[in-house]
Amino acid sequence: MPRKMTRAKAHDLFARLAAAAPEPQTELHFTNPFTLVVAVALSAQATDEGVNKATKPLFTVADTPEAMAALGVERLGDYIKTIGLWRNKAKNVIALSQMLLDEFDGKVPETREALERLPGVGRKTANVVLNVAFGQPTIAVDTHIFRVGNRTGLAPGKTPLDVELGLEKIIPDDFILHAHHWLILHGRYVCKARRPECWRCALVDLCGFKDKVMSPDKPKAKKTAKAKKTPAKPTKKLAATPKLRAATRKKAAS
Ligand code: SF4
Repeated sequence: MPRKMTRAKAHDLFARLAAAAPEPQTELHFTNPFTLVVAVALSAQATDEGVNKATKPLFTVADTPEAMAALGVERLGDYIKTIGLWRNKAKNVIALSQMLLDEFDGKVPETREALERLPGVGRKTANVVLNVAFGQPTIAVDTHIFRVGNRTGLAPGKTPLDVELGLEKIIPDDFILHAHHWLILHGRYVCKARRPECWRCALVDLCGFKDKVMSPDKPKAKKTAKAKKTPAKPTKKLAATPKLRAATRKKAAS
């Protein structure tokens, strides 16, 4: 694990990310807080691109809790079948729509506790909704932020919650509102999971990752030692049969 980053370096890091993308946005498409909750709930273990493809036609017919609940699990399933775990997600989206109608007057609540009561909504989804829909300074730790937080030394931690709390402590107030978007984008496009692109990373001198990849060239596969030629086995001479021996003797005598 890299050494924890200093506050001064963390400030530099976010200043550089902010300069590169002053107004970062979520890549999920949504039209209001309700469609954002649905899009984020559908995005677990799926790509934003895949979710956007499915929600484009869905949100034209159901962009409110009333319309979504009226759609029902089966018809909703027809829209989201291309998304992983769609059966379970369809049940959750209908159940959360119904709960919003029954307990929240059809409105998306603005506290983490209330959001986490909705079926299929965990801490990460709640944090995204609070940040993106309501402008609260939350950090939703997904796989990208978990990786970047650990590699750079910004907020090393064994669990997403450790990383979230570490980031909350180290991110300067000026940057906290957009920090989670910057870190997601950095993890998605530069600090990639399998092969971080350190050779073109703007944070390379601040980052504490030990195994930086400083060249775009993939390492060549090691040459395997040439297989030794094994000498061919001598072929056994066929033992002469008694009949053959007799024939040979007869030929020699004539
Ligand atoms: S230098 Fe490499 S490991 Fe560090 S943040 Fe940049 S891409 Fe990630």
